[in-house]
Amino acid sequence: MLKGAQNKLEYYLKNNKRYAVNIVSKLIEIPTVNPPGKNYEEMVCFLEKECRKLGLATKKYVTPKDVLNKFGVRYGSKRVSLVADLDAGAGKTFHINSHYDVVPATDKWITDPFAAVIKGTKIYGRGSEDMKGNIASVLFAIKALKKCGIRPRINIQLSFTPDEEIGGRTGFGYLAGMGFVKADYAMSEGCSGNHVSMGNKGVLWAEVEILGKSAHGSTPHKGVNSFERMNMLVNEFGKLKNKISKRKTRHNMQDGVSKSATFVMGGFLEGGIKVNVVPGAVKFSIDRRLIPEENISAAKKEIEAVIKKFNARHKDSKVSIRFISQEEPAISGKDDVFFKVVSDAVKIATGKYANFSVMPGATDMRYFMWKGIPSLGYSASGGKKWHSDDEFVYISSLIKTANVYALVMKDLA
Ligand SMILES: [Zn+2]
Repeated sequence: MLKGAQNKLEYYLKNNKRYAVNIVSKLIEIPTVNPPGKNYEEMVCFLEKECRKLGLATKKYVTPKDVLNKFGVRYGSKRVSLVADLDAGAGKTFHINSHYDVVPATDKWITDPFAAVIKGTKIYGRGSEDMKGNIASVLFAIKALKKCGIRPRINIQLSFTPDEEIGGRTGFGYLAGMGFVKADYAMSEGCSGNHVSMGNKGVLWAEVEILGKSAHGSTPHKGVNSFERMNMLVNEFGKLKNKISKRKTRHNMQDGVSKSATFVMGGFLEGGIKVNVVPGAVKFSIDRRLIPEENISAAKKEIEAVIKKFNARHKDSKVSIRFISQEEPAISGKDDVFFKVVSDAVKIATGKYANFSVMPGATDMRYFMWKGIPSLGYSASGGKKWHSDDEFVYISSLIKTANVYALVMKDLA
């Protein structure tokens, strides 16, 4: 019986792929380019219609002005999100989130980025892989369950949100923060194939300023060279960097990406105005990535301690720091049953054992992970050309990903 349902689903998905191809094509052809955020209302209108065709109850949410202002969103479409429910009358809910915005496209594409172009096994278009293809897979999964007469034993809730490409605070972050979405288990974009993501590193960005004293280049004794001070400070930070890079997460990292915490200096660098002037002020950036075992507050303290010591030792210069961005690392809440259901689904759909790992970059799932909700990242894939020219998604991946989602919806309870 169980096996029968599996086979039925697979058969249906393989033989009705036109549905997924059609949906992803239509999604690509609504250019929801962000920034500034275009055609959002048109997109939500389309998605709402498709969800209703599948029997889902829909509700729209508009992110209010004050929230947009708070996060510096001043241009573009109204920020509208869609939540769609398939109520099974169950106590628990399985939530699947997708962002529908895409990054802009250059003029270097071989195809029109906003016309879905099918070439062999691939569909080209901006957002095909990140992550409109996945939206098609999720809808296809629900359609397949219906057509195969399989009723999920868990409530299914979908959300389609904007602004992931600018951090998600005015999209999924807003919905999750307001409690407009619910989840006992959740999935959203992430790895693909037999890889499933279960968290991401944290980020701390800072700008460090060293104030010395400018003077004429011929009389350096009258000044304090902030550039030379920076050099000394960078050496001190180098010791911290060594310490930090020895910290390794106990979790798997995707594709062998570093398991270590990282510390990068000088991505941004500014100072000095002229060859014959002792530089009075310089600035440089720090990009600190945290493993899931670390936290922002401790990471800040470590950096600040170096500065405090440095300032105490060099009274004639002044180092200050400004933290410009900070996000805690995220890791999925533990739930053996959920992990097993996803793992089994991946094995059935791809023929390979699932591999759970932490991603270096963040997705909107972190808003659920921070709440301790078991949340995993899995999405349809192409050439891993997210955000670059000639992005595409494999048609076979749309089908397999739909199969994974359908199996998870069928088996979770
Ligand atoms: Zn994305």
